[in-house]
Amino acid sequence: MASLILKPGREKSLLKHHPWLFSGAIGALDGDPLLGETVGINSASGDFLAWAAYSPHSQIRARVWSWDEKDVIDEEFLLGRLSRAISERQSNYSQVSGNNIQSAMRLVHAESDNLPGLIIDRYNDTLVMQILSAGIEAWRETIIDLAVRITHVEQVYERSDVDVRKLEGLPLRSGVLRGEEISQLVQINENGLLFFVDIRNGHKTGFYLDQRVNRAYIRNLACDKETLDCFCYTGGFTANLLAGGASSVVAIDSSVEAIQLGRKNVSSNSLPTEKVEWINGDVFYVLRSFRDARRSFDLIILDPPKFAQTSAQSGKASRGYKDINLLALKLLRPGGLLATFSCSGGISEDLFQKIVAGAALDAEVDAKILSRLHQAPDHPTALNFPEGAYLKGFIIQAFPI
Ligand code: SAH
Repeated sequence: MASLILKPGREKSLLKHHPWLFSGAIGALDGDPLLGETVGINSASGDFLAWAAYSPHSQIRARVWSWDEKDVIDEEFLLGRLSRAISERQSNYSQVSGNNIQSAMRLVHAESDNLPGLIIDRYNDTLVMQILSAGIEAWRETIIDLAVRITHVEQVYERSDVDVRKLEGLPLRSGVLRGEEISQLVQINENGLLFFVDIRNGHKTGFYLDQRVNRAYIRNLACDKETLDCFCYTGGFTANLLAGGASSVVAIDSSVEAIQLGRKNVSSNSLPTEKVEWINGDVFYVLRSFRDARRSFDLIILDPPKFAQTSAQSGKASRGYKDINLLALKLLRPGGLLATFSCSGGISEDLFQKIVAGAALDAEVDAKILSRLHQAPDHPTALNFPEGAYLKGFIIQAFPI
């Protein structure tokens, strides 16, 4: 088997069980491994460190499968990893079924489940897989079969149509893997509300499952409030605001398709459609026009897309976050609440707090964090993989200075 030999002194992060090996740490390659093939990683002095999947095109040259020299990376190994991830979820949540309160959840969360680059989400009786690494790609067929075997779900769809695959030298791909072509929207139950999900064309694998807990949290803050849901997608927060008794919701998104589905989600839950004003537009522009028109709100949600793909883009992303947070804080009534999120891996919670603090200063408000919010527990963060903690949010209360 091929092996990667590290430069002297570059084994520290692997000894701490961080699963990524960057190209700069590699001294030599012994052998000629193919894309995604299993390689050994050895220190400069020849000690075994890990088994990993080789990715010749990526800065992350190898992603660790195991730190145990006795492990063999084969079907049985993958069965063990997948079973553990999936059974953890099933004991943490009610059994997945259309009638229960949660009928959609993330079953496998990549590095944090020791399966680097693999995402599997379940929407009722459909699994949606996203493959982000060369190592998982090499085991694709085995993993699909194992996922079906473990979950007894026979419909599997692939949404490996994300740009990060290009960094791994993998083509973008989506379509049916097992079962029939998906011709309809899937309807899921999240905390008692029903949502239509477009598995084929929706964002990510179809729905932002990571916001489940935060949506329920915000439902409890909404009673009698005039609210604004920025970057509403298919109405996840909007439906919860209405269910929580908001007196009105303005919901903004740049995607026409998302808004169409948002309308459908509000009406299929028999929520008061007349209380929602849907705006198909650019949040940066609409918030400015609201400021100029002196509109104001009691509760504002800012859940933008990832502004930074990597920490290298954090400067530009910071300006984007500051801009919308500044505008939102200016639109809040005295004592109003802002629920502000960032899902950029490259922006730490600490940095995000600094950005929002800068926005509050410029908006001339006295603002405090009432709660800190994170991704739902079916999107765990392995302690040895802090990069896994990508979603952070604050509930902020603000008063004019
Ligand atoms: N809050 C949503 C998820 C938001 S994802 C939920 O709970 O489901 C981010 C959304 O922002 C996407 O729907 C995308 O279409 C939208 N978007 C991206 N850039 C935008 C912009 N400049 N103005 C308005 N919407 C934007």
